[in-house]
Amino acid sequence: MHSKFSDGSGDVREIATIANESGLDFIVITDHNTLRAKDEGFEGFYGKTLLIVGCEINDKENRNHYLALGIDKTFSTRLPAAEYVKAVKEAGGIGFIAHPHEKRNSMEEHPPYPWTEWEIEDFTGIEIWNHMSVWMENLTEQNKYQSFVHPLRSIEHPPEETLQVWDKLNLKRKVTAIGGIDAHAHRVNLLGFFEVEVFPYKVLFKSIRTYVLLSERIEPTDDPVKRKYFEKLILEALRDGRSYVANYYHGDATGFRFFAESEGVTYTMGDTVPYGHKVHLRVLIPTHHSELRLIHNGSVIDETIGSDVGFVVRKKGVYRVEVFHQGKSWIYSNHIRVGN
Ligand SMILES: [Zn+2]
Repeated sequence: MHSKFSDGSGDVREIATIANESGLDFIVITDHNTLRAKDEGFEGFYGKTLLIVGCEINDKENRNHYLALGIDKTFSTRLPAAEYVKAVKEAGGIGFIAHPHEKRNSMEEHPPYPWTEWEIEDFTGIEIWNHMSVWMENLTEQNKYQSFVHPLRSIEHPPEETLQVWDKLNLKRKVTAIGGIDAHAHRVNLLGFFEVEVFPYKVLFKSIRTYVLLSERIEPTDDPVKRKYFEKLILEALRDGRSYVANYYHGDATGFRFFAESEGVTYTMGDTVPYGHKVHLRVLIPTHHSELRLIHNGSVIDETIGSDVGFVVRKKGVYRVEVFHQGKSWIYSNHIRVGN
């Protein structure tokens, strides 16, 4: 999300406080081409919420938006995408292609910024679901008042094209997925005579979330070394794909699990399972009895309903699951790779 340090309207401290009230364990602020929130010491715990600062980099034509995390300095905005993607990696950071297939055209002042440099290979992952992009893409002259009043309702599913590209990339190497809200909380003059805040942070915190699986619980601390360690755990989970994306509007996805078992060893999302012995996949879904799709190398190979579901693996490749609640897109896992 964005703050006042670029084109957002929220104060960093205020955003973090709302995140804490919303029950979020962590948030990531990615202002455009600046790490001011980090440089000015805003990283840290706000109640139970850990605020991490990264930035959204773009090239000099304001194209190819790239979410960079785990870096201490920004790069010249004159660099082409290939160079900043490489620079983030060399600085020990991780990076995600933001809203890769953005197509929105409903507001002239917010043109689409799709990714165009697909021959670059140094990125960590891609953002498969971006609230702001999907919302704007669904905006029409007919539904615009409804869309402003109910900003969470029109977020139906991630772009199909992005999911396809993501699966295809994973045939070659691991490319992990994140989801984002891309909050700005812009003030927009809607009817010509009164201003509304579009997507207040508080509302958007109930939309797309990225969940991480960590080896230990994060506890609020003032100790900067400990805090850095917690931040590292989160970034490693995002980098490795021990994570999944869900639309909180359809339910809290805490407790969702997708894992593999083979020869008495358990593997989770982001892992590679050696091929040769029996491999079982298992999906646990919190709260709801849900519809579930198993996807192998980009194709749906099984569909079922349940809250604890197992599959037997018969082929090498990359597996992921999609979960629907009452027909609505809810959870998207990262891949488990079987065989090399
Ligand atoms: Zn962007």
